[in-house]
Amino acid sequence: MKVIVVGSSHGGFETVRGILAEKPDTEIQWYEKGDFISFLSCGMQLYLEGVVKDVNSVRYATAKGMRAKGVNVFVHQEVTSIDPDAHTVTVHNLDDDTTRKEPYDKLVLSAGAVPASIPVPGGDLANVYAMRGRDWAIKLKEKTVDPDVQNVTVIGAGYIGIEAAEVFSKAGKHVTLIDLLPRPLALYLDQEFTDILSDTLKDHNIYLATGQSVKEFIGQDGKVSAVKTDQAEYPSDLVIETAGIKANTGWLKDTLELNNKGLVKVNDHLETSQPDIYAVGDSTKVPYAPTGKELQIALATNARRQGRIAAKNVLGHDMKMPAVSGSSALSVFDYHFASTGIKEGTSDANGVKSQSVFVTDTTQPPFVPDEAGNQTVFFKLTFDPDSHLILGAQIMSKRDVTANINAISLAIQGKMTLDDLAYADFFFQPGFDRPWNIMNVAAQQALQDLDQ
Ligand SMILES: Cc1cc2nc3c(=O)[nH]c(=O)nc-3n(C[C@H](O)[C@H](O)[C@H](O)COP(=O)(O)OP(=O)(O)OC[C@H]3O[C@@H](n4cnc5c(N)ncnc54)[C@H](O)[C@@H]3O)c2cc1C
Repeated sequence: MKVIVVGSSHGGFETVRGILAEKPDTEIQWYEKGDFISFLSCGMQLYLEGVVKDVNSVRYATAKGMRAKGVNVFVHQEVTSIDPDAHTVTVHNLDDDTTRKEPYDKLVLSAGAVPASIPVPGGDLANVYAMRGRDWAIKLKEKTVDPDVQNVTVIGAGYIGIEAAEVFSKAGKHVTLIDLLPRPLALYLDQEFTDILSDTLKDHNIYLATGQSVKEFIGQDGKVSAVKTDQAEYPSDLVIETAGIKANTGWLKDTLELNNKGLVKVNDHLETSQPDIYAVGDSTKVPYAPTGKELQIALATNARRQGRIAAKNVLGHDMKMPAVSGSSALSVFDYHFASTGIKEGTSDANGVKSQSVFVTDTTQPPFVPDEAGNQTVFFKLTFDPDSHLILGAQIMSKRDVTANINAISLAIQGKMTLDDLAYADFFFQPGFDRPWNIMNVAAQQALQDLDQ
């Protein structure tokens, strides 16, 4: 059997890895249109802040290493079209500008996404950057030490925008963070959390220009010099656009069924509308555990799970993609937060009735001094007030307690209720936590609230 895999980031890598793990003698052709395989944008902040020194190490696989495992790796070669009836793809070799057809038995697409550009005048000016992939990582790194760059404007205050803002703040630049929504990280955290984080961002020389819409990039001598919104104008030597992504699927529109956002439609086995063609990663939707509906959640975790399941199905297994809750975590200066599932702020958009409880506690018993690591912890649990089903949670502290959110993700997936969580068994050790874990405390408080 010959399998062609398109795209070498999370979804493509995991597909190849999954096939190799089970049937290493499978003929695999792996295509990447860039000149580097398996770059992990997730590691970009660590590189930009100098924690990881070599940009080329921010990856899981090398072409050489994968070839040694028998994979035919093609770098700088773009798959430009598919003939599903003939079971062939057309490949454009970007080095010598030749094209050829390659037959496949099974085809897995992990074409991913590219940063979306804001459709306003001036987007083509120099120093308007994005933050995804190795090429942007290298260019951004140069700007962190460029003395001509003093004012950096980041557009989009989601987790990528926050990472960009933190990088340039730590590099000593003045950062303006613009977002259409009224709060940073509004899709990840409710206001109790973002109020604290907003203060932290301001303390680190990051100006929050939220609730504003970008109207124009103003230029001088071909370079961006300011960003104009509906409310103000911000001097900008560098602009980083992190306001969403666009599926990399234009080349598939005449071949596969796409939705109105260009996402490839897949069934629960990750099969597309054409036989023997699977799609995974950021250019697809995933089943969302809190609602049972499909949702676009562009995370490496999802791409990896999908890649592994596509590999299983390619090899003849019958495996469904499990529902996910969109769990994610981030550090913002001293704070660590994580969230999963439904928040108060995303409940309506997901069409669910929800109620929440917010609790504040300390990570350890009161007798443990702050200097020994005892920190305030904020936790919010969201649930269905009728069925008591757990729908989501958010946690934040200066101590890293983010792993609790993985327990809530499991609770959502396992359809657990407040009643289950209120007395669930969690360990106690005063060096780490309290006799009642904050998840117990929140569920008990929620049951009490419902009783009243
Ligand atoms: C700055 C940043 C930080 C992130 N941090 C996290 C994190 O901490 N945790 C997390 O879970 N997620 C994180 N993500 C999201 C994560 O990176 C994506 O969800 C993941 O990369 C999606 O993988 P993918 O395989 O779908 O596609 P992509 O990563 O978009 O890769 C697609 C690849 O396919 C190639 N390609 C596309 N079309 C073709 C073609 N026709 N022929 C050949 N090659 C093609 C592209 O060149 C590209 O290399 C982060 C993203 C960014 C930008």
